[in-house]
Amino acid sequence: MAKVLIIGAGGAALSAAIAAKQNGADVTVVTKEYPTRSQTCMAQGGINAAIGDGDSVESHIADTLKSAKGLADEKAVTLMCSKAPDAIAWLDSIGVPFSRTEDGHIAQRRLGGASHPRACYAQDYTGLKILHTLYDYANKLGIEFANERFLLELLVENNRACGAIFLNIKTGKVEAMTADSVILASGGYSKLYHTHSTNSKAATGDGIVAAARAGAKLSNMEFIQFHPTALKSSAILISESARGAGGKLLNSKGERFVDELKPRDEVSLAIYKEMRKGEEIFLDITHLGETFIEEELPQERKLALLYEGVDPLKEPLPIKPAAHYTMGGIAVDLEMRSGIESLYAVGECSESRVHGANRLGGNSLLEIVVFGKIAGENAAKEPKSIQTDPTVILEKTNAKLDELFAKEPKENFYETRSKIGDLFYAKCGIERNAKELKELLEVVETTKTNLDNFGITDKNRVSNTNLVDYFEFENLLQIAEYVAKGAFENKNSIGAHRRSDV
Ligand SMILES: Cc1cc2nc3c(=O)[nH]c(=O)nc-3n(C[C@H](O)[C@H](O)[C@H](O)COP(=O)(O)OP(=O)(O)OC[C@H]3O[C@@H](n4cnc5c(N)ncnc54)[C@H](O)[C@@H]3O)c2cc1C
Repeated sequence: MAKVLIIGAGGAALSAAIAAKQNGADVTVVTKEYPTRSQTCMAQGGINAAIGDGDSVESHIADTLKSAKGLADEKAVTLMCSKAPDAIAWLDSIGVPFSRTEDGHIAQRRLGGASHPRACYAQDYTGLKILHTLYDYANKLGIEFANERFLLELLVENNRACGAIFLNIKTGKVEAMTADSVILASGGYSKLYHTHSTNSKAATGDGIVAAARAGAKLSNMEFIQFHPTALKSSAILISESARGAGGKLLNSKGERFVDELKPRDEVSLAIYKEMRKGEEIFLDITHLGETFIEEELPQERKLALLYEGVDPLKEPLPIKPAAHYTMGGIAVDLEMRSGIESLYAVGECSESRVHGANRLGGNSLLEIVVFGKIAGENAAKEPKSIQTDPTVILEKTNAKLDELFAKEPKENFYETRSKIGDLFYAKCGIERNAKELKELLEVVETTKTNLDNFGITDKNRVSNTNLVDYFEFENLLQIAEYVAKGAFENKNSIGAHRRSDV
């Protein structure tokens, strides 16, 4: 029986875990949080599949390729879109409570860039319902979970992955887990943009950094999707489904200035240009009425009241674009294999060439389910790994940890993290240019050179969140370098990577 280690417990990880288990593997899922939390549970709008009247897989493929602006791989897109109807049927069969039409079919809504209402949804709690259903199902299958374990290093011998090293957050001890294959499903890196991101604190690209350190190839790291409608003060997302239902974007004069249902890169750019003219931007859904909002968008209303103090039933919501999704990641082939043997990557940490320069709303939840299953099936078939002895790497990691505990920091990494987030939003945001990217790279490189000045102030070994934050900071700094370098070197202005100077 192959032993499969899955790092992450979002939708990609759980889909992979279920498939690996059903293909006879012994599966362990490891997460730095809990399996009921991740970006997956924040997804609101829906999951795409061409199952509605008049829609077709061909049309789904065409919309996806158009939005990707030439940077997606047609084979990968065709694989994902053609498996979408089965993915929805499977989610339905394991109990995802999709919203229904009056005649009992799975309801679908239209998101930006889609030529048909194609996103299947569960009110505006789609990701939460999918994740919790997958978790229930994984538990029924007897999949093992190890929570509050922070990935530090992958174990790779002779270019073959055979496990990983984790910090057990609860005990403060470093642990090794060995396996015949490893699936990275550790999510994206939008939190580089700190408070200018719709993502949770955990989206720090840890798995991507560990994979790159182990020799895996990364791709398209500069492609960051800015979602057009995040709440102005908190960057909490107001789903595209609000625009799909007829929500209007207005400037301070109450004028519409863009077709709200264009792909995200185009709508965000239009908003950005208005904002540069000094306009404030609002999302108006007041005309949709209480019954519709309470039935279809109940979470959006709660979020707007809670985080912006505005009731969308009564007045337009102040919004701004915010970093939302990272198209770049670990380069994988159609079987989700990275360049390292028996190391797979899937979901937002991977670059599977389905989103290209701009992801379509509803295609990420689809990718994590369809490609998660492919990764799990393949990982379960890996041959037995060579026995590895992690003693040396454990000793090295423990020594690094002891050094960190002994050191008194000279600089506050929380302040630096926040400053870097602001700088990325300003200089590597919706529009970029060589001069500002160069300045940004210099800041990142100087901070990296001075890494020794940073450290932890909480010296408790047990449940030390300061230590976790520090490791995330180190990873974000490395991600910052990949993103800024990629953006500086890529002179093609395309999709989410828009250079104003070329
Ligand atoms: C607010 C919001 C709304 C969205 N709405 C939609 C939508 O409607 N439709 C759509 O298609 N997409 C949507 N998306 C995008 C989509 O939700 C994500 O891209 C997708 O869920 C990513 O899934 P994942 O499994 O790859 O990663 P995640 O769900 O982010 O899971 C990553 C996992 O890795 C773990 N992890 C990370 N680092 C470590 C480490 N060092 N050690 C151990 N574990 C680690 C995390 O704890 C987590 O369990 C939305 C995203 C957001 C933020």
